[in-house]
Amino acid sequence: MIKKVYVRAERFHPFSNFKVSFKKLENFNRMKLLLLSNSTMPGEPYLGYPQKQIQQFLGDRKVKALFIPYAAVSFSFDEYEQKVNESLQEIGHEVVGIHHFKNPVKAVEEATAIVIGGGNTWQLVRMLHDQDLMDPIREKVKAGTPYMGWSAGSNVACPSLRTTNDMPIIDPKGFNTINLVSFQINPHYLDANPEGHGGETREQRISEFLEINPNVYVVGLREGTMLKLEDNKLELIGKRSTRIFIQGETPYELKAGDDFSFLLKE
Ligand code: ASP
Repeated sequence: MIKKVYVRAERFHPFSNFKVSFKKLENFNRMKLLLLSNSTMPGEPYLGYPQKQIQQFLGDRKVKALFIPYAAVSFSFDEYEQKVNESLQEIGHEVVGIHHFKNPVKAVEEATAIVIGGGNTWQLVRMLHDQDLMDPIREKVKAGTPYMGWSAGSNVACPSLRTTNDMPIIDPKGFNTINLVSFQINPHYLDANPEGHGGETREQRISEFLEINPNVYVVGLREGTMLKLEDNKLELIGKRSTRIFIQGETPYELKAGDDFSFLLKE
């Protein structure tokens, strides 16, 4: 229904502002995101802990999702694709790597679902920029194509890569990322620093981010947890709580079942 209104407005209304406002409404209602902190818990099978949620998210009918393995640095895209498939096939789904397509932008435009795996965020962002994929992915997901990511793949769903834990091993050619949500995720969020270690804690690093970017909220997403956006509702899934960082406030905890809607502010 909303889509019909938007299409009509776009065709017949002479003022572009009108078109934009309908588009925004449509996009907000349609996005489907599953943003995981990490792929795997120590000692468990690859993509084991989120298997049930992934199945629910992708649905009962087999989905052949487009997989973006660009965060892989020390193993091949084929190996990565195979590893993900071994897990997804157990729940009746499949991925096909974007590296098999001659035209990656077209592959995104035609995808039924988009999956971005973890690895090194800087390398991932560099490749997404080099292939001109940021905007096409944003458009596609905002129009309703399900998006799932873990670690680096969750980080790039945010406005920028600035809350990654990874070393900047390559010039990313721009810090901006896909920008599906307006907050930042710090994946693999960790509370403790190893004993006898004098480096910054994760909390200190995020506080530094907030000093420089005071208007952006940060979610410290602990391992074994994920954020899901569906039907306009953002929720935390997992046993551990998540740590919320807002400039000027003491960091605090939210758990599954709590209200996360404030994070959807534009
Ligand atoms: N290297 C992580 C990953 O697994 C990302 C991060 O820690 O920021 O993708």
